[in-house]
Amino acid sequence: MGQIPAGTARAGDGAGGAGMTETKRCPRCERALPLDEFTRDRSRKGGLSPWCRDCKNASRREYYYANHDKVRRQQNEYRTREHLRTIGVAYPELQVPRWLRREYLQKFKSPKQIAAALGCTEATVRRALRACGIEILPRTLHAALRTGKQGVRS
Ligand SMILES: [Zn+2]
Repeated sequence: MGQIPAGTARAGDGAGGAGMTETKRCPRCERALPLDEFTRDRSRKGGLSPWCRDCKNASRREYYYANHDKVRRQQNEYRTREHLRTIGVAYPELQVPRWLRREYLQKFKSPKQIAAALGCTEATVRRALRACGIEILPRTLHAALRTGKQGVRS
């Protein structure tokens, strides 16, 4: 029970004959897609993963977000970041509150500087700060803290 039919079918209505593309139906998104939209999986019948690339990526992301705290506790900062990078999350540093807090509240880098270092937009950094529960300080206050820090010389 619970068997998912392979759903392998031929697309195209015969026009062109030899130009037909073989497709496979993804049971998750129910789209019939060309075979190269499925990753290879030798352990599977037909040598292809049952889900399409999009669905595989999405399910990994969903798992991560659903288990965010658990995963985070189990992994250190670096591994979390690399994991996020692997599953295709853009600017994984922004998902790590500790990293953000350090950049913003210890090094007093402005969102603009953080954005420049990562190659994203300032708005993305601000959104990430809010998402991590980090209070965004007024620009002048933050700049004063930065200057004050730089001003401390031995
Ligand atoms: Zn799919």
